[in-house]
Amino acid sequence: MAEFDVVIIGGGPAGLTAALYAARANMSHMLFDQKGLGGEIMNTDLVEDYPGFATTTGRDLAEKMAEHAEKFGMKHELKGVKKIATDGDRKRIEMVDGTVHYALAVVIAAGGEPVKLGVPGEKEFYGKGVSYCAVCDGAFFKGSDLAVVGGGDSAVQEGLFLTRFAKKLHVVHRRSEFRAQAILQDRLFTMDKVEKVTPATVKEIGGENVVQWIDVVQDGTTRRIPLDGVFIFVGFTPLGRELFTDEHIEHDEGGYIITDQNMRTNIPGVYAAGDCRAQLFRQVTTAVGDATTAILHAERYIEELRHAKKTFPMASGEVIAETASAMEVVRFQPGATIVKEGDPTDRFYLVAKGDVEVVHQGKVLKSLRSGEYFGEVGLLTGAPRNATVRAKTSVELLAMDKAAFDRMLKQSAETRDAIASVAATRDV
Ligand SMILES: Cc1cc2nc3c(=O)[nH]c(=O)nc-3n(C[C@H](O)[C@H](O)[C@H](O)COP(=O)(O)OP(=O)(O)OC[C@H]3O[C@@H](n4cnc5c(N)ncnc54)[C@H](O)[C@@H]3O)c2cc1C
Repeated sequence: MAEFDVVIIGGGPAGLTAALYAARANMSHMLFDQKGLGGEIMNTDLVEDYPGFATTTGRDLAEKMAEHAEKFGMKHELKGVKKIATDGDRKRIEMVDGTVHYALAVVIAAGGEPVKLGVPGEKEFYGKGVSYCAVCDGAFFKGSDLAVVGGGDSAVQEGLFLTRFAKKLHVVHRRSEFRAQAILQDRLFTMDKVEKVTPATVKEIGGENVVQWIDVVQDGTTRRIPLDGVFIFVGFTPLGRELFTDEHIEHDEGGYIITDQNMRTNIPGVYAAGDCRAQLFRQVTTAVGDATTAILHAERYIEELRHAKKTFPMASGEVIAETASAMEVVRFQPGATIVKEGDPTDRFYLVAKGDVEVVHQGKVLKSLRSGEYFGEVGLLTGAPRNATVRAKTSVELLAMDKAAFDRMLKQSAETRDAIASVAATRDV
């Protein structure tokens, strides 16, 4: 068993970026991947849309990312994660091999996998005309005859993208009706170069070294369509949410984990980044961006957790984790007014770094330093601010709104009593 600040699940572009930032921030961390480092991109031939690398292979890019993270101290193990559960203010990470680790925060960067057709030729010609990503591979097929397989939004959207390059685009779907939005269908199917092949199923993909044809079954007969590439969009299975069996992690109908703009999930201390996250596009650039945000926010969350724990030692781990996730860091320069006497009381503040001074009717009453707090009197009584608080030095405060403050008091009677007794000693 080991304890970390952060555990990262997945060693694709998102996970490797998270590990790089964690290592550089000196966070104790561990990245786990069940297969090997690199993720989906290892299966991609050419990558031409990652800034700074005009043309590279997926493998080369992934290896460079791994080397880069290792150079700065990334720690990783090639092991699968089986289950994640909240245990107080920590996360319990159970591995496939039965070992258990603990971390204050977890970044889920488990990606996902495109659903395969499962027909002869699909595997053999992968990267040689068979693709699961139009944005990634479309540009290699300028002036070619192509097919898209699928009938949902992704198939039609990616099909639209491919029309920029294709001379002719066959859209093969097993039903006559498409599930994609009508507006997308209108755009695609009004183009002369686009032909619907429905209801039809792909039976085989073939050619000499590269894709040259697909066999489709339509009305009981098999027809061969000569072409240069086939793009398959019959679904994508995101991974990550299946790791949470004791608590609910919010996800959309496709199984993608829902986050806020800081990559936080609904579970305090759990972040999601990259392809497993609900978002519009799934690219290496979006994965590395997500991971950067996730780890930087996780670092902040862990700091908030430690402050909350120190200030409210009587609260349970779950309450501390929820409190920390509801806090926001705010900074003030020396002399700046933080709250003003007479203003409505809307937030509770915990001093994380530096000193503040409490001023009432022009007189400095006292100083508060790291670990002390203010704002509770107004929140407890509903009265306006009874004093002005100014930054004495540069200060960093953890702020909590009224809803989060009330929730904390409701969840922990000991914390409520401790705060009420501090409020009773205030001079104003
Ligand atoms: C054919 C193809 C071509 C593509 N080409 C491009 C391109 O040219 N440009 C571009 O920007 N994007 C491209 N993409 C998309 C790109 O690969 C993804 O957006 C990117 O890899 C997402 O990174 P990720 O880290 O979120 O997930 P992934 O790369 O999927 O990595 C997730 C990792 O998590 C691991 N994992 C999952 N579950 C567990 C578990 N329980 N325990 C431990 N490990 C686990 C997996 O083994 C995997 O290594 C392409 C995708 C495909 C399929």
